[in-house]
Amino acid sequence: MSRSLIWIEDDQNKGWACSYCPWRFPVPTLLSDPEAKNAYDRLATTKFREHKCETSLPVVKPAPSPDSDHAFEERARTLVTRGYKPKDAVEIVLQDLALEYLSDSRRMERARAAAEDFLRKVRKGLI
Ligand SMILES: [Zn+2]
Repeated sequence: MSRSLIWIEDDQNKGWACSYCPWRFPVPTLLSDPEAKNAYDRLATTKFREHKCETSLPVVKPAPSPDSDHAFEERARTLVTRGYKPKDAVEIVLQDLALEYLSDSRRMERARAAAEDFLRKVRKGLI
């Protein structure tokens, strides 16, 4: 199975997509800040790698709920196992979440709380 990350632009959609299946990662609206664009590109690459190609019906799936503390910890932990320092890992995840949540400040608050919690656990050697 060969697939690649491709850029699509049509009337409804603009953003990264899978060349093999209906997977899409549309650009969030109001994305103008270059920093946010970089974060979006990076996030698209990660999501692309993680997604499983669906050869059957193109279904619009709800986004995996990244708002639980567990999800935050998983993502940060994954980065740490790839060699990032915990503090940097947390920064990266927070940055990505900021992009995902955009103006949803309540979810962002919870993500920050999860970040603190993660770093606290790291300091205590629990992770
Ligand atoms: Zn795919």
